[in-house]
Amino acid sequence: MDVTEIIDPLNEMQRQAVTAPNQPMLVLAGAGSGKTRVLVHRIAWQIQVEGLSPQSILAVTFTNKAAAEMRLRIESLLDISARAMWIGTFHGLAHRLLRRHSKEAGLPETFQVIDSDDQYRLIKRLLKSLNIDDGKWPPRQIQWFINGQKDEGIRAASVVETGDLFQRQMLLVYRAYEEICQRSGLVDFAELLLKAHELLRDNPDLLNFYQKRFKQVHVDEFQDTNTIQYAWLRLLTQNQQNLFVVGDDDQSIYGWRGAKIENLFSFQSHYPDHQVIRLEQNYRSTGNILKAANSLIDNNQGRMGKELWTASGDGEPISLYAAFNEQDEAYFVIERIRKWVNEGGLRSDVAILYRSNAQSRQFEEKLMSTGMPYRVYGGLRFFERAEIKNALAYLRLISNRLDDAAFERVINMPTRGIGAKTMDDIRLKAQHTNKSLWQAALDLLSESAFTARASNALQGFVKLINDLAESSQDLELYEKVKSVIEKTGLIETYKKEKGEKGEARVENLEELVNAARSFDYDQDNDENLGELEMFLSYAALEAGEMQGNDSDDCVQLMTLHSAKGLEFPLVFLVGLEDGLFPSQQSVDDPGRLEEERRLCYVGMTRAMSDLYLTYAESRRLYGRETIARPSRFLREIPAETMQEVRVRAQVSRPVTAGASISGQIQQNNTFKLGQHVGHAKFGEGVVLQVEGEGAQERVQINFRDAGIKWLMLAYAKLEVL
Ligand code: ATP
Ligand code: MG
Repeated sequence: MDVTEIIDPLNEMQRQAVTAPNQPMLVLAGAGSGKTRVLVHRIAWQIQVEGLSPQSILAVTFTNKAAAEMRLRIESLLDISARAMWIGTFHGLAHRLLRRHSKEAGLPETFQVIDSDDQYRLIKRLLKSLNIDDGKWPPRQIQWFINGQKDEGIRAASVVETGDLFQRQMLLVYRAYEEICQRSGLVDFAELLLKAHELLRDNPDLLNFYQKRFKQVHVDEFQDTNTIQYAWLRLLTQNQQNLFVVGDDDQSIYGWRGAKIENLFSFQSHYPDHQVIRLEQNYRSTGNILKAANSLIDNNQGRMGKELWTASGDGEPISLYAAFNEQDEAYFVIERIRKWVNEGGLRSDVAILYRSNAQSRQFEEKLMSTGMPYRVYGGLRFFERAEIKNALAYLRLISNRLDDAAFERVINMPTRGIGAKTMDDIRLKAQHTNKSLWQAALDLLSESAFTARASNALQGFVKLINDLAESSQDLELYEKVKSVIEKTGLIETYKKEKGEKGEARVENLEELVNAARSFDYDQDNDENLGELEMFLSYAALEAGEMQGNDSDDCVQLMTLHSAKGLEFPLVFLVGLEDGLFPSQQSVDDPGRLEEERRLCYVGMTRAMSDLYLTYAESRRLYGRETIARPSRFLREIPAETMQEVRVRAQVSRPVTAGASISGQIQQNNTFKLGQHVGHAKFGEGVVLQVEGEGAQERVQINFRDAGIKWLMLAYAKLEVL
């Protein structure tokens, strides 16, 4: 293959970045300017032209999906296998390091990765055993505290104590939590990063080995790295000239979770010989979309300053739709998608982006009832479903009896007559003897500490696990999974569960067997670890990617946060209301408001040709009905780039009849433009427009105090004045 394929599809600045000699480099550029493309082509260049071996490449991206895509693109550019490269997320790569060097990291070989829900449960149980009131000390808050410390690289032992009660309590739990994780061989997500950093920091030989191995280190979305991730990168590249990062300060959206936009500045002082390259041409969006996004983000202070331009034309104006409520919003969006599909568009080219996961339900319901295939990213993921987690917990226990979290999860699932009292005894024993729950249970059994009934039930459980471990030893991975869900009675139990839910659970368990069958053991295993252990880690780390099939043509639903780095021809950015987006917590905090604005910028710049912005005048969310103002972000978008959409082409039909006898306008009565009406909440106003029919009939009214609003006639209870 020749190098023109690598550099031809690049503009001048991109080419400079790709072909630059070995030195630290920061590509700082706005959305859609080709940062990710540069990164991929740089890797290809280094292998093809500079002669680096794939082994010596390390590349970190933000999601597993992005990593898979990167691998694919390099493979198709170079026509080689990208397997030997380390391409992955920070968590995925940290996990790989820890698997290879569990001993040096002070972890049992069979350590298990726990997700955030496992972590939450573990903390909750811990509070109970410490006699701490979880009403006063919510487990979520403690979880937040612990992860926050870990993200900063701080162990319980090294927290600087301030002496206040709050911190003392948090620390007490943090310490106990560290102990129980260590004893049970459990590693949470934040711990993966922290341990991977400590591993390299405290083992100079290892560090040296990896510094030599990775000749080039690449990072996408660098603006969203946190303290510990950046510290890890610095270790790997210290005294070298090989760190290549791309990022955009305007797209930093994880500050709330510890990401440090400052890393962009630190990079420049930590690597004094660096070069900065700016890209200014956007290849993704139309002129209107770009202009709107540029004006919006211009409202933020203290930006590093970038201008984006595009050679493509203005395109269609951005469409703005004011919905009557959240249902109307969803109807509208689905109508437009149907139109798109009818005109030959792909469903997978369409994305619905929202601020909060809870907003997806409306869209899901309506998509489902119209029979439109869709896929939700980051909802309840496959590996996070209760039935799947139960099956996995059995597998974990088979692999590692010390796993207390797994033990607690399945000891009485399905019910086998092990009651709360027995469990309490086991916990207490474990606490006093500082042993695992499994060992404590065995000890109590040999001391004949239980009633005959309890003892029988517990013995049954112990035997079940031991037998499963024994009998599945020589089985293929998928056979192991199959044997577990059958012999534990899990599948039986769900089969008995009535209705669709039980059915879905059975199907999910069967899908787990399939997942195990198609699990690519070799993909991530250059260190010959147990296949079961690798599968369990995969389940914890890649939770999101198992849902549906990527090749299916379905509408994409996701939060704005998970849309980072992606692009779609048609984008609906929904729920643009003050209090929802920007979120309520951010409106009084300038820093957080700016982060919300960046999030909006990220959302808008996902769109290639068509962008819809929608808001609802009233919304039921989290069980409350709220009347909302349109998002302040809408006012920051130049009017000339936007066009308001009306439901039908036919607007404001001529009106004949007047008010009804009672003075209350009934649904089937129409009324005059310019007529004065009164509304219980909004007060007096003048009718501007009428549209729709029957139950869908709406009127637009200019209220003296509340401004212009669309109201559904069937609900509005308008009074003629
Ligand atoms: P984001 O900030 O959203 O992550 P990005 O800067 O990483 O965006 P890319 O995703 O790399 O941008 O590129 C955006 C789009 O523009 C992609 O479809 C990409 O293929 C295309 N593109 C990038 N550079 C060029 C180029 N020189 N010629 C043609 N298309 C390009
Ligand atoms: Mg990108």
